[in-house]
Parts: sequence; C-alpha cells; structure tokens
Amino acid sequence: MVSAPTAVQAAAIVPPRSRAGKRLSIVAPCFNEQAVLDLFFERIEDELAKIGLDYEIVCVNDGSRDHTLAVLLRHHQRNPRIKVINLARNFGKETAMSAGLDATAGDMVVPIDVDLQDPPELIGRFVEAWEAGADVAYGVRVDRSADSPLKRLTAQGFYRAFNRLSDVDLPYNAGDFRLMDKRVVEVLRQLPERNRFMKGLFAWVGFRQEAIPYARPERAAGTSSWRYWKLWNFALDGITSFSTAPIRVWSYVGVAAGVLAVLAAAGLVVRTLLWGRDVPGYPSLMVVILMSFGLQMLAIGSLGEYVARIYQEVKGRPLYVVMDRYGFEAPKPSQEDAPA
Ligand code: UDP
Ligand code: MG
Repeated sequence: MVSAPTAVQAAAIVPPRSRAGKRLSIVAPCFNEQAVLDLFFERIEDELAKIGLDYEIVCVNDGSRDHTLAVLLRHHQRNPRIKVINLARNFGKETAMSAGLDATAGDMVVPIDVDLQDPPELIGRFVEAWEAGADVAYGVRVDRSADSPLKRLTAQGFYRAFNRLSDVDLPYNAGDFRLMDKRVVEVLRQLPERNRFMKGLFAWVGFRQEAIPYARPERAAGTSSWRYWKLWNFALDGITSFSTAPIRVWSYVGVAAGVLAVLAAAGLVVRTLLWGRDVPGYPSLMVVILMSFGLQMLAIGSLGEYVARIYQEVKGRPLYVVMDRYGFEAPKPSQEDAPA
C-alpha cells in the first residue's frame, strides 16, 4: 500500500493556499433531528465565526417525520446563510449527503452530522490542513468508546473485509466528516452511480488526503437511526460496489468442490474393490448434498446481490427528489432535469 503524502509533504510540492476570500460550504443531512438542531447551529456558527470564512450551511431535510423542517426554516429566517433542501421523502443519509454536495457553491465543502458527533471545532483544523496543501482533510476517530463493543467489533470486521476485497483502501475509523476541496467535490458530483457508498467514493477519488485524529463524542440528543440490519446492508452495499471478489470467488469454490468430489469418488472405488460394499453411507451422502446445496444457494445469492444492483443502476432513476429549496438564489437544475 502506498500511503498518500501528508499535508506537510504536500506543502513542499504545492504552493501554500490562503483562506482569504474563500467560501466554506457545510453539508448537514438531517433526519428527525429537531431535538439537537438548536445546539448544532449554536456550536457550528460559533466555530465558523472563529474560522473567519464566508460560509453557507446547506441542510438537507431527509424526509423527517418530526418538526425538523420547521426548525430548519426558523434558523434560515434568522441566518440566510443557512439554506434548506427539503427532499420528497427519506432517501437515507448517503443520498441526502449527495443532494447537499450537489447544491454547494463553496471552495471547500464539509459534510457533517448534526448530532454533534462530528465536533465542529475540528473544522478549523481541517481548514489549516487545506491551507497546508491537503485536498481532503478527514477526521479519524481515535476513540470509539462512545460506540457499543458489538458496534466496534463489527465495524472493525467490516474495514478489514472491505480492504481485503477491494482495490480502494478505506482508512480505519474515518467517517464522512471531512473537508474537501472544490475539485474533489466536482469529481464526486460526476460519479453516476446510484448506489452511493460515500466512504468508498471519498477514498476512491484520491487527491492529497490528510488524516486528522479526534475523539468521537456521544450523540448530543435524539437517537441514532442506524440499526444493525441497516448497518449490515450498508456494509453489503459498500463491498459490492467496490469489489467483485464475492461474485468471482464462486468459480474457485466450485473447482475446489469438484476436485474434492473426484478424490472422494476415487477413494470410494478403491475402498469398494478392496473391502467390498459396507453399510450404505446415508449420513455422508446427506452431508455432501446439504453442503453442495448450501454452496449453490450462496453462489446464486451473491450473483443476486450484483444483479440487483445492476438493475438499480440500469433503471437510471434520479438519485433523489427535491421538494423545496430555501435560500438558494437561482434554482439549480435538479437531478431529474439534468441531461443524462
Ligand atoms: N441521517 C439522514 N438520513 C437518514 C439517517 C440519518 O440524513 O436516513 C442523518 C442524521 O440526521 C445525522 C447523520 O445522518 O445527521 C448521522 O446519523 P446518525 O447519528 O443516526 O448515525 P450514527 O452517528 O449512529 O452513525
Ligand atoms: Mg450520530
């Protein structure tokens, strides 16, 4: 694995940048977050004032079933730099984030969770890394003690499996919380896939990436909407969109099973010739039948995982549907109108 040059190394090859006159876009996907939004805006506006950049906060209401939209609009009235995109229903965090990224106009873009698990205080350090030459500065959780042991264990297993199976290296314990240069965001916007595993896409684009360690706090209020089943599906999306190993491995498993079967058959012939027929082997027969049945089902299932995703891409539906936009000067062409 070749690690990307750090910002310090990068500084030697790219001229230093300056934040003067630059614009920062924050992207905040919100799903049922009414309890935490006031605190979120307080903290982030504080931090943004310290950073001293012109900014916009693009909030994407991802089909919340509580008063999230009303709260967002109240803040939009108070501070016009807070803009709101209201999606037509709940599309999931990855898609909501894409909707937000598509709407940003800044020179730097920071996606952030509104539950304050991504500490806004880190944004200042991201901007410093950007000035030092990094195109992407991403937060890495050094301490996951806020997560349950099971969540930590499964997360670690996922990173290991993902990195083993795909060409893209996902940095361990990096979330979506990061600062990206405009150029990186433009590349992300061009990616046509519907199945958006953002962590993977973030790593796939490359550029000069710099890790910034931080301790991830607990949710400030409200509850996480990720359950284990959802996380499992998320992991499956991630692996299937970045690796074809699960669909290709079955030919090898098939060959191995075939070789084993030939060996077993040969052994049985020799045994019968030497010692004659003994008690008919129902148990071993059943084991073989069940095992091959199971393997076939797994193989077909893994085919299905990919076929299903091909089907999704081929349908070519827009990624998301925007119902309303608040605070954007000229209405941007939405995904539906955009030429394919
Ligand atoms: N979120 C979203 N749509 C969803 C689920 C979550 O926009 O369907 C947002 C949520 O409002 C929050 C962020 O994604 O800003 C992270 O969600 P959460 O805190 O539930 O995830 P966790 O921190 O447990 O991974
Ligand atoms: Mg959270």
